[in-house]
Amino acid sequence: MASFLDNDIKFLRGVGERRALLLQKELGIATLRDLLYYFPFRYIDRTKVYRIAEVRDDGQTYIQIRARIEGLSMQGGGRKRLVAVVSDGSGMAELVWFSGIKWIEKRLEVGREYIVFGRPAFFREQLSIVHPEMEPVSAAWTRPSGMQGVYGTTESLSSNQLGSKGIYNLVCNLWQVAEHHIVETLPASMIEAWGLIPLREALFNIHFPKSPELLRQAEYRLKFEELLGIQLSILSQRAGRTSRDDGFLFSRVGEAFNGFYNTRLPFPLTGAQKRVIKEIRADTVTGHQMNRLLQGDVGSGKTLVALMSMLLATDNGFQSCLMAPTEILARQHYATIVRMLGDLPVRVGILTGSSTTRERRELLPALEAGEIDILVGTHALIEDTVRFANLGFVVIDEQHRFGVEQRARLWTKNQRPPHVLVMTATPIPRTLAMTLYGDLDVSVIDEMPPGRKPIKTVHMRDSQRLRVYGFMGEEIRKGHQVYVVYPLIQESEKMDYKDLQDGFESICNQFPLPQYVTTVVHGKMKPADKEANMKLFKEGVAHIMVATSVIEVGVDVPNASVMVIESAERFGLSQLHQLRGRVGRGADQSYCILMSGDKLSREARARLNAMVATNDGFELSELDLKLRGAGDLNGTQQSGLAFELKIANLGKDTQLIELARQVAQQVLDEDPELAQPSNALLKELKERYSSKRETDFSMIS
Ligand code: ADP
Ligand code: MG
Repeated sequence: MASFLDNDIKFLRGVGERRALLLQKELGIATLRDLLYYFPFRYIDRTKVYRIAEVRDDGQTYIQIRARIEGLSMQGGGRKRLVAVVSDGSGMAELVWFSGIKWIEKRLEVGREYIVFGRPAFFREQLSIVHPEMEPVSAAWTRPSGMQGVYGTTESLSSNQLGSKGIYNLVCNLWQVAEHHIVETLPASMIEAWGLIPLREALFNIHFPKSPELLRQAEYRLKFEELLGIQLSILSQRAGRTSRDDGFLFSRVGEAFNGFYNTRLPFPLTGAQKRVIKEIRADTVTGHQMNRLLQGDVGSGKTLVALMSMLLATDNGFQSCLMAPTEILARQHYATIVRMLGDLPVRVGILTGSSTTRERRELLPALEAGEIDILVGTHALIEDTVRFANLGFVVIDEQHRFGVEQRARLWTKNQRPPHVLVMTATPIPRTLAMTLYGDLDVSVIDEMPPGRKPIKTVHMRDSQRLRVYGFMGEEIRKGHQVYVVYPLIQESEKMDYKDLQDGFESICNQFPLPQYVTTVVHGKMKPADKEANMKLFKEGVAHIMVATSVIEVGVDVPNASVMVIESAERFGLSQLHQLRGRVGRGADQSYCILMSGDKLSREARARLNAMVATNDGFELSELDLKLRGAGDLNGTQQSGLAFELKIANLGKDTQLIELARQVAQQVLDEDPELAQPSNALLKELKERYSSKRETDFSMIS
């Protein structure tokens, strides 16, 4: 049923064709409803007017003062700036503009009083505000009654009068016309049972909070609705999956699996590995499609579980594929699998972005003819030209690096969806995993292969570098190898490579040829060079490998005993933990050395301390969620999420996620199809969330 709110955003007063295109492109806002659900990410208390003398340099984000302009002048030579000196009787402040200054100058009047609103800064103890908002104090001026929302915006929107304030103005226009078209989306019984405020009131207070308490209630209500919608969608999808009988049957355990188990297995499986393989076997004989997330700390032996599961598929006449996030990792998996299988009659292929036309010409027809049993590769696997004869099992390694769409395209490579195993070293609670990735069962490897010694981690300052080099030398003389890793952060790529190059040179000086061999691997190298340098290290020719975080995921050199992480303060916790997991794979004592400068932010210090204090990935990931408040989960990993969250926060709202899940489950237990009239609203809610990802995601179940 079309609603007024489905109207194109261009019809809203203050928008028009051009800005509508911008809003759509930059923020995905296409309709009135989209704008109504575009919430502020922060609020400023505009009820408070500061005295200049009481403003402190304590990192407050925004303030407002009420002050008179004492003087106004253009300053500076080449690049002019407009400076206003204001006072309010308690002190003086300087207001500065760098752009649009002619226009602003015309509108300001010396001797007049203004409400000045902006972000305070201090220069030589003097309060200064750059590009403040100015509002003349007139007789009619009254204090705004509440908090004002700050809206996320972009550069190109800002330069079209759609900065935060501009968007706020649009929302004001919208509210005038839309208010009476807002229809309640939750059943009255539920609103009452959970003490929620009605939708209209919630939407009003999320944009124009009348008080902090009402804002809290508005947030709660909207989060509840969002999480409930998601859970209803996931849980009914799950019910659908487990009620259909189109899952491939892997009922035979044959030559491939048994041959491997009896003659090729290089070590006994850990109890946890056995348990997970059993879980997967049980899943693949039910007649339902498997959709399983395998969590296991770095080094816990997930690859072996993947391989043995794929061998089950082979035994039942199905092909499998293993998709890895990087070329290096794909090639390593391929090499490991080929080596482990030895002369067993299982045919393995590899396909990556750098596979040549000739290699493809051989591989692809063989794959389509069913002559390849296991195909290992990168996201090249999802290309349309890659066709399987009978794909029955899909493994995705380090899954958070793949987008939803990429994953979904794999499932479509057979008429019936294959069983899916996604593997990750990032431990997340089950409910959270399901919110992130959709309907999944979860297996956990909670036991390390025997004989591993916990890695010793220390934090060293740059000034202690010589000691670190000394230690590296000792380990190398004992026959071990060393990684030295540099952060690589996109925006400052040039600088980062310089760090890496400088580091590489100083290590080469410190550890000269021919006694020592140092190799280097980074993302800007040609794949063939990368490969060659990796090989030097893997084969033990090189003692030291200097690398960017490209080696973060999955590299396996058991003889390496030291991991030096440069500028460790720039890495996130889970990344640090992943990197550390590159060592400690053999029987000898291993070390992780976190290098940093002397000046550390509080958060960075907390991260490094946590790394020193524990080796436990679960503990670290919990702390990580707390430190980051899942902001990053929502942001950088957004593309991998099954659902885009508008208001709920995966890190902070864990209790609410649980609650929403219980409520959804209860509703669906009583009325699986949501067919009862009393559940009509919930059915709509569920469908709204399901349709959001239908195109990409329908095949995961
Ligand atoms: P991850 O879970 O991080 O992907 P890997 O699968 O790369 O871990 O395994 C890490 C290392 O542990 C590899 O060298 C692998 O051969 C070894 N390994 C795996 N399972 C066992 C086991 N049951 N006993 C001893 N070593 C094992
Ligand atoms: Mg791995």
